[in-house]
Amino acid sequence: MLQQTQVATVIPYYQRFLEAFPTIEALARADEQHVLRLWQGLGYYRRAQNLVRAARVVVRNHGGQLPNDPEQLRGLPGLGRYTANAILSQALDQRLPIVEANSERVLCRLLGLRGNPKAPTVRQRLWDAAEILLPRTRAGQFNQALMELGALVCLPSQPRCPNCPLEERCVARQRGLEHKIPKRSLPPRTVDTQEVALVLRRKDAILLVQRPNGGRWANLWEVPHIALQNGESHKRAAKRLLQSIGYSAKLGKQLVTIRHGVTRHRISMVCLEAFHQGGRFQSEFYVQSRWTALGRWQDLPSSSPQRRLQASIIGRAGK
Ligand code: SF4
Repeated sequence: MLQQTQVATVIPYYQRFLEAFPTIEALARADEQHVLRLWQGLGYYRRAQNLVRAARVVVRNHGGQLPNDPEQLRGLPGLGRYTANAILSQALDQRLPIVEANSERVLCRLLGLRGNPKAPTVRQRLWDAAEILLPRTRAGQFNQALMELGALVCLPSQPRCPNCPLEERCVARQRGLEHKIPKRSLPPRTVDTQEVALVLRRKDAILLVQRPNGGRWANLWEVPHIALQNGESHKRAAKRLLQSIGYSAKLGKQLVTIRHGVTRHRISMVCLEAFHQGGRFQSEFYVQSRWTALGRWQDLPSSSPQRRLQASIIGRAGK
């Protein structure tokens, strides 16, 4: 839950999650849609799905106990070397190193590594160094301290070297390279993307569709939307969208525009109203559809831009 998310934001989610699923067995039995619903707003939904899958493997293959062998733990869905080692070093004091964004920066500077920390050879050196530096006991505390040092002292653009306990040993500091290490890759160029979304109405219900079990926002529900092709108008794209989901409808007014970012895409999603005339759901992308009363929209897990859209549409309906 804490990946890219602040502690204060996570706390209520964490409490609700543990109330709903107090044990690994409860999580293993959970309906994934329920889990996604509780996760809604935290983003990175793949983590929630992996948690459920990992809980099922733990119950099925490990008697409901998290394995304490690093190889076995790394075999669980969603757990890589970093997460497995973080769990085992902090919970069981196993002598296992971690390398994540903060400790990566500290180690690069401490050792004066000028290469790209994401390059395999530099990466290997970082893991080796993190392992060699580990004390015999209290490895978890050491790992935590290294991360904290990166988060509070060895800051990305303004490292506080005079306050750093490593100052005298730090190669980057000695050579005046603390602002040049680690080498930063250029941020990817942003791409502007135009989309159209449809609030397709049939009597008192609207059409919601479920995304496939893979890729971005896997298994979440949304109103159908599509990216505009070169030179295409929103109305024309809306007609293409209707055709792609098997419906005919009369297009109505523009309801709202939602702007949001996904990775390097800056998306502007224009939402149009449409009135069902006929057809039957079929889609090469969406896996299923549901005609849902406006007031029940919130019962289904959705991505954050879709929830903004939802709030705006429900807000309008209440006026
Ligand atoms: S001396 Fe400066 S650059 Fe080196 S580890 Fe400490 S804060 Fe980072």
